[in-house]
Amino acid sequence: MNRPPVRDDLVAMAGYHSPQVDVEIRLNTNEAPEPPPEMFMRRLLDELSQLHLNRYPDRTSSVLRASLANLHEVDPSEIFVANGSNEVLQTICLTFGGHGRVAASFEPTYAMYSQIARSAQMNVVEGLRDEHYRVSVNELDRVMETYEPAITFLCSPNNPTGTPESPELIKRALERSSGLVVVDEAYGQFAKFTALDFLRGPEPPESLIVTRTFSKTWSMAGARLGYCVAPSWIVEEFDKVVLPYHVDSIKQVAGRLALDFVSEMDERVNRISVERTKIERALRELGLVVWPSEANFVLFRSTNPLFPGDLIWECLLDRSILVRNCSSWPLLEGCLRVTVGSPNENDLFIGALQEIIA
Ligand SMILES: *Cc1c(COP(=O)(O)O)cnc(C)c1O
Repeated sequence: MNRPPVRDDLVAMAGYHSPQVDVEIRLNTNEAPEPPPEMFMRRLLDELSQLHLNRYPDRTSSVLRASLANLHEVDPSEIFVANGSNEVLQTICLTFGGHGRVAASFEPTYAMYSQIARSAQMNVVEGLRDEHYRVSVNELDRVMETYEPAITFLCSPNNPTGTPESPELIKRALERSSGLVVVDEAYGQFAKFTALDFLRGPEPPESLIVTRTFSKTWSMAGARLGYCVAPSWIVEEFDKVVLPYHVDSIKQVAGRLALDFVSEMDERVNRISVERTKIERALRELGLVVWPSEANFVLFRSTNPLFPGDLIWECLLDRSILVRNCSSWPLLEGCLRVTVGSPNENDLFIGALQEIIA
């Protein structure tokens, strides 16, 4: 049979790789360890039973956007919602990227920036983080001056390192860039600072987009819902590339209801942070290098040649514990990333590591 060729620029591209292995303890994709509150689920089922599924959804997601606007103290015209923040990133690339334009990221970081940018036919430029996995002012300036990116992706706190960006660095990116600055705050509720403050201040920048997701802190990875806060002129431009009715009515309801449970979410974030501290301490006691995290995961490295990252990853898998193996990523040689799970899962993970390394 004849197989028609895919796009020339896709031939050399690999897809997104995060193995979905069937294990007992899944600590590899930074999901929340707890389901959303019981009351949320009950109210969701109740509202869904009254939904007119024969009708198309509200194309502008007006009620959900108004609720999000209320949460962030901005105008609904400054909110864009989509199927996960990945669809937000894709919409940004389709609107401001395209053939020959440059997207910049700072490695190591979330792999989807370059992946999505390439699929939108952009040229990807990868700056490098410093030894603390922060974006230095020098490196930022170098990338901005050399490549004049149409889109610059910053991730705060950064996945997979857990390090936040400083407000000063984001401010500098906004000053130096002639293009868009996207700050991905998928783990924003864990951090001390949010770039949303820039958008709420007097004279908000015209080129800043802050993305958020329901996948992590909201315990709703299965719902595929994300959004961004951006100047309204940007949100209007998105309408040109986004598919009509892309956000279904079920998730519009789910997102709006979730926002009635902000304090439960905050408490969950606190519980996860306590557990994260426990994990960080245990890993250090095992002699592993640990980077201080402001998210729901911990990056660590074994410097013991007897126990390289790959081996630890396999030994954990033998015990039905799956973490993320980052050891082949740029600047992450020997590194593994563990998502903070339930207290019991974390104890089992720590116990297994002690067994493996001892
Ligand atoms: C998990 C994650 C996302 C979430 O993507 P969704 O499509 O909303 O599930 C976005 N950015 C980063 C950095 C992440 O780690």
